[in-house]
Amino acid sequence: MRNPRLALLGAGLLVGTAALGAGTAAAVQVGFTDDRSAVPASQIDPSKPRNVILFIGDGTDDSMITAARNYALGADGRFALDELPFTGAMTTHGLKVGPGPDYQKAYVSDSAPTASAWSTGKKTVDSRVSQGPSTADNVPGQDYETVLEKYEKQGKLTGNITTSEITDATPAAAASHINLRACQGPTDLTNCPTAKKSNGGKGSIAEQLVDSGVDVLMGGGKNRYDQVTDAGPTALTYATTTKGYRLVQDKAAMDGITSLQGGPVLGLFTGGNMTPMFAPLVAAPPPGTGGPDAQCLPSVRGNQPTLSEMTTKAIQLLDNPNGFFLQAESAMVDKQEHASDICGAIGDLVELDAAVKVALEYQKTHPDTLIIVTGDHSHSTQIVGGNTDGKQVATLRTADGDPMTVAYSTSDAGSDHTGSQIRVAAKGPQAANVTGTIDQTDLFLTMLGRTPSTLPGPGTQPPAPLAPKASVVATDNKISKSDLRKKGLRVVVAAAGATKVTVTLSQNGAILDAKALGSDGGTAKLKGKAGPGSVTVTVTAVGPGGTVTDTDMVKVSK
Ligand SMILES: [Mg+2]
Ligand SMILES: [Zn+2]
Repeated sequence: MRNPRLALLGAGLLVGTAALGAGTAAAVQVGFTDDRSAVPASQIDPSKPRNVILFIGDGTDDSMITAARNYALGADGRFALDELPFTGAMTTHGLKVGPGPDYQKAYVSDSAPTASAWSTGKKTVDSRVSQGPSTADNVPGQDYETVLEKYEKQGKLTGNITTSEITDATPAAAASHINLRACQGPTDLTNCPTAKKSNGGKGSIAEQLVDSGVDVLMGGGKNRYDQVTDAGPTALTYATTTKGYRLVQDKAAMDGITSLQGGPVLGLFTGGNMTPMFAPLVAAPPPGTGGPDAQCLPSVRGNQPTLSEMTTKAIQLLDNPNGFFLQAESAMVDKQEHASDICGAIGDLVELDAAVKVALEYQKTHPDTLIIVTGDHSHSTQIVGGNTDGKQVATLRTADGDPMTVAYSTSDAGSDHTGSQIRVAAKGPQAANVTGTIDQTDLFLTMLGRTPSTLPGPGTQPPAPLAPKASVVATDNKISKSDLRKKGLRVVVAAAGATKVTVTLSQNGAILDAKALGSDGGTAKLKGKAGPGSVTVTVTAVGPGGTVTDTDMVKVSK
């Protein structure tokens, strides 16, 4: 049985296929035929964004997007994130610990340095959270201020939501600073001793997130908040009593909060990570799992909200005249890829796209909102030609009705990150900054809003009209007085970009004859009673881009 929501998507696809002739002709010719230059041109907006919504699919690369698209929509389908007007490629490498100041590159990154990169605009080492590099993992680096923290200082409201533990690396980097991502709760600080509050540090990630004053903080990870702090109470008690957070633990309670008037919101919907949308289908050594008729099954999620439901609530709470910054992460794409679970990863990528649609709907009435959709690093999911092509494989029937096999080959069991550049896409003010090949750190200034360029505001500016062109050629360079008077001088005029073209015959400034021609010129006969010497033929072309003239001289003989 399929997920009912995807069944609806499938039904929509069937209608389209039927209209195109049962997928025969349609399967051969896809794509667009018209020039699309006007589309990005109409979307260029150099103003600074008032609101910024950053969507992260953890471990979400083009390979994973394609696999999810094939499954959920068919190969010719398009996600909302596929149709954002600006798309680019983004490099995600990090650094390795060492003596510095020039650190070795780490070509395969984890979620800590990658999230730190867009959060702070600077590279750091694996497992590090919004702190600079250092000589060793357990040696803290310099704290770097984050986009969220900068926006908070500017008076914007802030949100940080995820489907993993809220203390996991991606959400942690938005608003905490620590030498190792594993130091999530107050009793997890073995390798981050200087972070302990009793040692004068900022505390664990759980404590720092609530100390940061993020207005909407939602995800999994209640177990971390149940840990006791150095001062005695649990991190949760600290959050609710000292920091004024209102705790919500299921969708109904989340929906019950309708404004931030009563204080910030802490949503902790599970003890650990939240449940992926689809039950697992875990790949296995060839011939693998699943099959040509295998479909993903919905998982049992109890009262946990979905990412799109959390996004809806966060936007509703954060919307205010000063603007807001929201980071929303679909975290389990990565974690299910680590488990070689193709269904778990697909379901949460489809859910990421559902959350993007929520933001796009908000953007329609709030066009000063910048939406960015990207991942943090590439991963291991590969679409392969058959079920012998990899260490672990699984096969599914896609929305096309055809089998698709995916492979995980970084390990014999489980799976790990890879080092390819990934996709970044955006819509809204300054969204054009994601185009080309950028680095993750470039998102930092883009999200903060770069100094506006000299482009005029939103919308398409018609191109400046070109100056008209005109040239005149007399067919003879010499004419007798009587021929000029009786037969006339034949002239040929070529013109372009003009609305009015005239050609005149003159001698010593006195006009002898004048003719109007068509906008692209033509042939005219000019007559006149000239004295000895030369006559001048002048063409004048007038158009929206200005006026041009051209002349030719003709000798007059007896
Ligand atoms: Mg993550
Ligand atoms: Zn990962």
